[in-house]
Amino acid sequence: MRPLELARLQSRFRAKPASITAMRVPHIDFARSAAAKLVAAAALLAMAAQPASAQSVLRDAETEKLLDDMAAPLVEAAGLAPGNVDIVLINDPSINAFVAGGQAVYIHSGLIDKADTANEVQGVIAHELGHITGGHIVRYGEGVGQATKITVLSMLLGAVAAAAGAADAGMAAMMAGQRAAIGRFLAFSRVQESSADAAGSEYLSKAGISGRGSIEFFKKLQNQEFRYGFSQDDEAAFTRTHPLSGDRISTLRETYIADPAWDAPDDPELQARFERVKAKLYGYIHTPARVLQRYPETVQTTPARYARAYAHHNNAMIDKALVETEALMATDPDDPYFLELKGQVMLESGKPDQALEPLRRSTELSNSDPLIASMFGHALIATEDKDNFAEAEQVLRNAVARDRRNPFAWYQLGVVYAARGDMPRARLASAEQQVMSGEYARALRSAQAAEAGLPEYTPDWLRAQDIRLQATAELERDDNRRGRR
Ligand SMILES: [Zn+2]
Repeated sequence: MRPLELARLQSRFRAKPASITAMRVPHIDFARSAAAKLVAAAALLAMAAQPASAQSVLRDAETEKLLDDMAAPLVEAAGLAPGNVDIVLINDPSINAFVAGGQAVYIHSGLIDKADTANEVQGVIAHELGHITGGHIVRYGEGVGQATKITVLSMLLGAVAAAAGAADAGMAAMMAGQRAAIGRFLAFSRVQESSADAAGSEYLSKAGISGRGSIEFFKKLQNQEFRYGFSQDDEAAFTRTHPLSGDRISTLRETYIADPAWDAPDDPELQARFERVKAKLYGYIHTPARVLQRYPETVQTTPARYARAYAHHNNAMIDKALVETEALMATDPDDPYFLELKGQVMLESGKPDQALEPLRRSTELSNSDPLIASMFGHALIATEDKDNFAEAEQVLRNAVARDRRNPFAWYQLGVVYAARGDMPRARLASAEQQVMSGEYARALRSAQAAEAGLPEYTPDWLRAQDIRLQATAELERDDNRRGRR
């Protein structure tokens, strides 16, 4: 037991939320793990410097599960390996979606907000999958040369780092990369657009999903284009990256109407989940005043209560947030995301003891969703009760086994190991966290320390060696880049 080390780690751990509050920025913890806090905090810091370019990945268990479920039949129809395509949510009010790195579809929160149905978003996902299977990104990289690759790659690395909760470096890399990439390189040609449209309509058809939403969504974009012209404002982002030619919608419509799936009804359960997620995102992203305009207190639907709960929580109105949360839980006491919200509100208001039960149940009911589990692990550690550390270790190990890109879970795992005096594994957990946050020099030191202390040829020792080699290679690459300039 090393109480000093533990105290130091914990106070560092707490420093982030405190500084966020001090900045009076919308409170951070999107439904989830503290990883999102770091992401949001980094984004907010970046926002202060460059208001027009704020970009961040938002991670939320419920949203990710919904987007995965919406995409799954389309991914399968596209012949891509299920589970291999990530649908990543970007916190950005502009209406856009894009693909990068072959197997990831990025969707802006603004697009979710502009869509009225899950079916509309599925139309967009199908189209983006068409860009993936068409290999359009790769072709751009090859055609434009090294500079493009680096730009696109930096966006990717930034996105991965940000998704994992990395700090400012990752965010900055991503913002620079993405802006440049979208502005200059990622705008698809009309040929690519028609090919993605054709592929997308094929995937919708194979999955038995109607193309109506896709048409509705494109019409909305077209109306905007008529209204604003080809402006550079946020709402034109999608049409900048995916040019809408005059006959594109009518061609699509003809294809869709001939398809038996055209009349397929929307899945009501998916739609209900979509409305919840849309409200939750709105409540999280916007100021309480705006949230109350769209979702006034008189409206007592689940989405309205959800939006208000997040808005109040973000505004540190704990009592009001709890009233909405309790009302939600009364409608379904076994909803893992309501329980997650309850736990989050208690944890964030400094009552980790009261966060444990809802988060434990939420973890169980969500089949150990790694993001929820890492918040639970965080709460267990935050109680500062040593009796809770064994459970925290088990929960966090399980979380990182299922979602390695979660540096915050690694960080907390390191805290638990350090508390037990298991310094080699604490250093290994630090190395995991640092390498995925792009802190290669620190990752190298941590990995070396871990390797020196771990029994040889054990899986942990081999892992420490892997990280050491990876960090060394990254540092050499940085040196070479610098050398060339
Ligand atoms: Zn496109």
